[in-house]
Amino acid sequence: MSTSVQGKKRAIGIFGGTFDPVHYGHLRAAVEVMEKLQLEDFRLLPAGTPPHRSNTFASAEHRLAMLGLALSAYPDLVVDDREVRREGYSFMVDTLSEIRAEEGDAPLILMIGQDAANSLDQWHEWRRLFELAHLVIMRRPDSKHYYSGELFEQVQPRLVKHPGKLNDSPAGLILPLEITQLAISSTDIRRRMRAGLSPRFLLPKPVIAYIRENKLY
Ligand code: ATP
Ligand code: MG
Repeated sequence: MSTSVQGKKRAIGIFGGTFDPVHYGHLRAAVEVMEKLQLEDFRLLPAGTPPHRSNTFASAEHRLAMLGLALSAYPDLVVDDREVRREGYSFMVDTLSEIRAEEGDAPLILMIGQDAANSLDQWHEWRRLFELAHLVIMRRPDSKHYYSGELFEQVQPRLVKHPGKLNDSPAGLILPLEITQLAISSTDIRRRMRAGLSPRFLLPKPVIAYIRENKLY
């Protein structure tokens, strides 16, 4: 459990994704949010069996290994492998409940992209997410939000503008944050590699070597 000198619990950043494979878009986003929110505890959380996809391309073990390679030189970015170790589907509410049970009333800050935020009402038990964590919605300067029906009603009163607000309570607020989103996606990397094109400079070199060795995509 992380506690600061004032006795106030330190906020914990959580960045979930399939990371199939992890790339510099993810890694830069992580660093920018970490810096803007001054987070000292930051965790990347690869999804085990993601409920919103029929399948991943690389196995959970391989995706975990690639994250490990990407982050090995950066001890301030920690990989949380709990979803990979868990049997069956991984639901974010279950994951957050587990982390909440371990961390007491520390602010938990879940990072999601604007695209994911727009369809948050498709997530398993989505209303409970707000009881468990704050949300940081990573936006590009031109990204649009489309919150329909009840999602709009839930989001609207929770919105805050200042990152510091998230330190004052354990959960329930939503902070839209403009970050530099590099135009890199895992889909594009997999497509390039299938087509025999080089993915270099889109993701760390050791990750590329690992993909080739294990013939992942
Ligand atoms: P895929 O193309 O397979 O969907 P992806 O590149 O979108 O992969 P995910 O693992 O699906 O990667 O994304 C995990 C999280 O990272 C999501 O919240 C997503 O919005 C965010 N993300 C993905 N790519 C970027 C990027 N280039 N910059 C910032 N955030 C990103
Ligand atoms: Mg995606």
